[in-house]
Amino acid sequence: MAKMVISDVPDPEYVGKRVFVRVDFNVPILDGQIREDYRIRRTIPTIDYLVERGARLIIATHLGRPMGRRVASLSVGPVANRLSELLGKSVKFLGKTIGEDVKRSVAELQNGEVMLLENLRFHLEERENTPEFSKELASLADIYVNDAFGTSHRSHASTYGMAKYFELRLAGFLVNWELNTFAKVRESPERPYIVIVGGSKIRDKINAVKNFLEIADKVLLGGGVAYTFLKAKGVNVGTSIIEDDGMVEWAAEALKSYRHKIYLPIDHVVAESMQGGKNSMCMIVDDEIPDEYRGFDIGPKTVARYISQIKGEGNIFWNGPMGVFELDAFSSGTTHIARAVALATLRGATTVVGGGETVAALRKAEVLDSEISHISTGGGSLLVFLNGEELPGISILNESEV
Ligand code: ADP
Ligand code: MG
Repeated sequence: MAKMVISDVPDPEYVGKRVFVRVDFNVPILDGQIREDYRIRRTIPTIDYLVERGARLIIATHLGRPMGRRVASLSVGPVANRLSELLGKSVKFLGKTIGEDVKRSVAELQNGEVMLLENLRFHLEERENTPEFSKELASLADIYVNDAFGTSHRSHASTYGMAKYFELRLAGFLVNWELNTFAKVRESPERPYIVIVGGSKIRDKINAVKNFLEIADKVLLGGGVAYTFLKAKGVNVGTSIIEDDGMVEWAAEALKSYRHKIYLPIDHVVAESMQGGKNSMCMIVDDEIPDEYRGFDIGPKTVARYISQIKGEGNIFWNGPMGVFELDAFSSGTTHIARAVALATLRGATTVVGGGETVAALRKAEVLDSEISHISTGGGSLLVFLNGEELPGISILNESEV
């Protein structure tokens, strides 16, 4: 069923109303500088629309994983500045998420004004989805809007818990675009359907891979995700990141059942640590990773093998970098995959790329937006959606009446 979108509500309803807009501004920030602001830019149509109709906007996001603590480097202050630049007007930012000062500021908001709350995850209650925190957030506004596609797979206070206190629970334009665009891929992917998964949120990604092994024709694995499978295969992975806790056993079974579909790295760029170690050099190894070494990128043979599967036909979906692309020494695999996906688009494939870091990797590889069919703001959420599962942050929204 289609969801009610902000444009389904008559304009006068917004005048003077306090509208809570949950966004996903979880952007990569390094030394206080935003490296990639695609997720912010994609919500501007929603914010403009509400501002132009005289709403008073309370915008909220999470940033990183501060685990309930106030972590200075994860303040959304830089995001408030960037948002001000993009909107061409000043965005109020108190450095607080809830409390009396926030209530006072909200009460002082004028029609068309925008304020941004501090990182929601500075409060453990956000992830724990406690009723008190949900109620407190909900008390700030009259209308609830979800434009945080990238976080819609979480049942947190701001994405799920608080919504039930509102009569109007609407989808923003970004969420609406993501749902419409990717419903097609989800319902009838073009064949062959090639799925490329990497990155470091291994548990989420492996859960998604479980479903993709059924739906997709080929699943190419890289990044942190690959080592759990390699370990399951009996390959020495050194100190590479893996997800134990039953996942290795599951991966062993999956490898047996889907041997023809799963592609794993056959060589690796390894080092003792990200900064180097006593042997500060990184090196390329085939198959096994020496005990004290960690895999940080896929090697050139793997790149060649994967690229030969990324052709100009069918659907190609990519989420998760192939290595620690942020560091030049480990960026080659990701850059090659990014360029191969771009070329496949030009040759006629329908390509979908999603994920905060994956989109940043596209930028680093100098791939243009026009060289990818659809760039999603969702990583984990897109994985869940394409798997055919419900997103709690979407299911809680009003159904459209038409
Ligand atoms: P996305 O945001 O695109 O969904 P993730 O958040 O899952 O992707 O993972 C992105 C991160 O994974 C990147 O910051 C990258 O440095 C890291 N990463 C990729 N490969 C490895 C690896 N082999 N070891 C450790 N971290 C890795
Ligand atoms: Mg990420």
